[in-house]
Formats: sequence, structure tokens, C-alpha cells
Amino acid sequence: MRNESLIVVLDRSKVESLRFVSGRVVSAGVGGQQLATDLVVDAMGRRSPTPGWIRDAGGSEELTDSSDCGAVYYSRYYRTRPGAVRRDGPWVLGPRGDTGYLGFNTFPGDNDAFAFVLAVPTRETRTGESYTT
Ligand SMILES: Cc1cc2nc3c(=O)[nH]c(=O)nc-3n(C[C@H](O)[C@H](O)[C@H](O)COP(=O)(O)OP(=O)(O)OC[C@H]3O[C@@H](n4cnc5c(N)ncnc54)[C@H](O)[C@@H]3O)c2cc1C
Repeated sequence: MRNESLIVVLDRSKVESLRFVSGRVVSAGVGGQQLATDLVVDAMGRRSPTPGWIRDAGGSEELTDSSDCGAVYYSRYYRTRPGAVRRDGPWVLGPRGDTGYLGFNTFPGDNDAFAFVLAVPTRETRTGESYTT
């Protein structure tokens, strides 16, 4: 990893709050401290608390833009038992398939972990119609 003198990585830290002055973010609360900010990029994923913080500060949530991807999926992470070997096969990443009414996928991770995903469309499908992701 390169040394970037202008970048400080606060590993395993959690952003707990944002402080607003005159509609602008001036600091972020991290580990009980306020870190002064010129610019904030929210990369906290779809469950980001930022829209709630903006609303609590009197701002508008309409800043959020989203679009429907046509599917909803549920996933859990598992770890293979000691000594167990995951099978290799003619699939992309891991075993996957389409039952006709839902899709299932597996995604290998590190440390013997893997994700199992069940995906269904957000609309009714006609019999035999595929929607595999
Ligand atoms: C099993 C699985 C398979 C997938 N496969 C695909 C695929 O093949 N193709 C595809 O396009 N997408 C796939 N996705 C979806 C993809 O992973 C997500 O769309 C993508 O990761 C979203 O990226 P993100 O950066 O917005 O959020 P995230 O990846 O969710 O990153 C958010 C980060 O913010 C951190 N964070 C949250 N709150 C705080 C806080 N308060 N302070 C500090 N940090 C915080 C979290 O720890 C996390 O590291 C898959 C998802 C899963 C679960």
C-alpha cells in the first residue's frame, strides 16, 4: 500500500454523527471526537444513517435518488467446516441456478466463508419465464 500523506485511514472506526452549520456539514463524530470536514462522501451503503441525520438537522431527504433493479435478494454468510473442500465446477464463482420461481447463487469469500443468496423478482413472472441474475 502506498503512503498518502494527505489520507488518514481510521480502520474499525464508526461514523456516529454529522454536525451541520447553516446547512453544511462541518464535522463528523467518530469515536466520541468531532473531526472537522470540508467535504463528506457518504459510502455507508444502503442502510446509511445519513438521510436520517439530514432530516434531523431540518434538511430534505429528497436528496436521495434510487431506482428499482427488479429483484430482491436475501443472503447469509456461512463458513465451510474444517477439512471440507468446496467443489469446483463449470459455474461462475460458485454453484448457482434458477428454479423457475427463484434464483440461488453462492459467492466464495475469504477465510473459507461463502455467501448463499436467494433472489426473487419484484414482479409476477409467467410460468417458465426466467429471470436469473
Ligand atoms: C452475497 C452478495 C453478492 C453480491 N453480488 C453482487 C454482484 O455480483 N454484482 C453486483 O453488482 N453487486 C453484488 N452485490 C451487491 C453489492 O455488494 C452492493 O450493491 C455493494 O456492495 C454496495 O456498495 P456500497 O459501497 O454502496 O455499500 P457497502 O458495500 O454496503 O459498503 C458500506 C460500508 O460502509 C460501512 N459502514 C456502515 N455504516 C458505517 C458507519 N456508521 N461508519 C463507518 N462505516 C460504516 C460498512 O461497514 C461497509 O463497509 C452482492 C451483495 C451480496 C450481499
